[in-house]
Amino acid sequence: MKVSLRMVRLSAVAVALLLTLGPEGGHYGTAAAQDRAARALDVYVIDVEGGNATLFVSPSRESLLIDTGNVGPGAIRDADRIMAAVKDAGLTQIDHLITTHYHADHFGAMAELAGRIPVREFIDHGVSVEKNATTDAFLQNVYPGLYAKGRHTIAQPGQRFSMGDVDVRIVASAGKPVSAAVPGAGRPNPYCVSTKPVEPDAGENAQSVASHFSFGRFRALHLGDLTWNKEIELMCPANRLGDIDLFVVSHHGQASSNSPVLVHAIHPRVAVVNNGPRKGGQPDAMKVLFSAPRLETIWQLHFSQWSGQEYTVPGMLIANGFDEPAPAMPIAPMTPPARGAPAAPPPPVHNGQAYWIKISARQDGSFTVTNTRNAFSKTYAVR
Ligand SMILES: [Zn+2]
Ligand SMILES: [Zn+2]
Repeated sequence: MKVSLRMVRLSAVAVALLLTLGPEGGHYGTAAAQDRAARALDVYVIDVEGGNATLFVSPSRESLLIDTGNVGPGAIRDADRIMAAVKDAGLTQIDHLITTHYHADHFGAMAELAGRIPVREFIDHGVSVEKNATTDAFLQNVYPGLYAKGRHTIAQPGQRFSMGDVDVRIVASAGKPVSAAVPGAGRPNPYCVSTKPVEPDAGENAQSVASHFSFGRFRALHLGDLTWNKEIELMCPANRLGDIDLFVVSHHGQASSNSPVLVHAIHPRVAVVNNGPRKGGQPDAMKVLFSAPRLETIWQLHFSQWSGQEYTVPGMLIANGFDEPAPAMPIAPMTPPARGAPAAPPPPVHNGQAYWIKISARQDGSFTVTNTRNAFSKTYAVR
């Protein structure tokens, strides 16, 4: 017994020596290699009440934040919520900030946030195509002062940058789709035949900066609020995006985006809806998501009155409720008031404790999604 134990100990020493001198070179090599394998691309889908704020943190701890939540009284709340995720990720700066488009639920807390943590690069689609007093004041008087402290980049379709092992590709910006398919994609898209264009969207949503992420075999997609016709331009005749593991659902899960030509063609394994209490989650959009081929789970950032119980997912997959919870969610989705009818009562408020949905992806393509409200998590194995 003693002999074999000593042999084990000796061989362990030999293995350690071999690893120390091994191909990684230098005696930090083995630890670094193990570290790299263990570390993940972390994605935080943060609750900003039907706006957007999604934080990507690479294994090398480089960071990209997409959008900064709401203007007005919501800005401090949303900056607090973004900073909670920033702290969880251990960041001391935001390396890249993409503002997908100039709507108040996407750039709203930018100044508040930039006052709390350095932002190194500000990325956007260029000039706003809408006239709006709040937005124009921000773009003229506030934004230039913020990006003067860092770098200002106007995103071009096809542009790419890397955050360590994570490649980020801009697949649409200022209404123009990328012309070439991402590596491995580009097959004909069978959904082009059945998806018809709608009235053109002349507003800011159609200008959204859209991003594709690859990390080893893992793929993620965040298109901001890109709308229906732009999805057709991007996805037809060839599917330029290929298969996606994590789809951050476009436009908060509204049906003016999320056509089958996009949602069904990318075969998402997981869809995360960045909806609010009464924004996104409408039946028409939920039907497209639920019928997406190969989709394994839909996660929602919020209980949505537009979904009711009929069109939503089990509560364990939903991250946020309301400050004053209703005894039960009605089965039927809430119907928007008809044009000219009295307005509906205001949506339920959620200014209290908020929870993000966190995705941790590994280089082999496997990933884990966690609802931080109830700690429910699911791991999606290599496929
Ligand atoms: Zn909320
Ligand atoms: Zn929006």
